[in-house]
Amino acid sequence: MSDTPQCPICGSESLQKRGLTKSEEPKQQYSCNVCNRWFLVSLVEIAASPEFFLNKARVSDLEKKNRYFVTCSQNNTPVDFRFWASVKHYVKKNDSTLVVLPIRYRNPTSIFNKQDQDVWWPDEVQPYLVENILKIHPDLWIMGNMRIQATAENPLLGLDSMSQGASAIYGHNQIQMKTVPTPQNLLPKICNRQRLWTEGKKATNGQQGGSS
Ligand SMILES: [Zn+2]
Repeated sequence: MSDTPQCPICGSESLQKRGLTKSEEPKQQYSCNVCNRWFLVSLVEIAASPEFFLNKARVSDLEKKNRYFVTCSQNNTPVDFRFWASVKHYVKKNDSTLVVLPIRYRNPTSIFNKQDQDVWWPDEVQPYLVENILKIHPDLWIMGNMRIQATAENPLLGLDSMSQGASAIYGHNQIQMKTVPTPQNLLPKICNRQRLWTEGKKATNGQQGGSS
C-alpha cells in the first residue's frame, strides 16, 4: 500500500489533510489542491478481517477494573512464547487486566504471511483482543477502535481530539508518547502507543522490528 494517497477524482498527489472523521472507525479527510474536492481515506490497511468488538456488558465490566496491562498484537504474527509467558506472569502477579489491541498490517515481505491470505491472530491473544474504546477512567481511555497504519511514520498525528479531553492509549508497533496542550485547569493530556511484542523481526521497511 502506498503511503501517498491520490485524489480519486483527478489523481493529484497534492493534498491537504483535513482531520479525521468523528466516527467509531475514523477516516482521514483530505482535500485536493488541484480540483478542490474532498475525499476520505480509510486508516485500515486490511478491511476484511475478523473483528473483536465486545458487547456493552463486557466493556463496562472491563472498565471497572483497577489495574490494566495494555499491549497490542499484529495479525498473522505469532507471539514470542517466552515474552508472552512473562506478560501472563506479570499480569497474574499484579492482579492486572490484560487488554490486547489488534493491529492490522499486510507486509508483503513478512516471513509469516507469504502464502497466507487469511487474516488471523494467535490463539494466545484472542481472549484479550479488544476493538472498543475502554473508558477506564474519565481522564484515560484505551482506544481499541483506532486502526492506525502499522507503517505510519507519526501514528499519533491527528489523533489528539479522538479521546476528547482524556489521555489515550493506542495500539501500534512503535513506542511513542505525545503530550497535548490543554486549556488551563484541565489535566495534561498524554497519548501513548503500546509497543507490540512478537517473535522474529519485521522485514525491510526500515522500522524497528518487534523483539523479545
Ligand atoms: Zn483532485
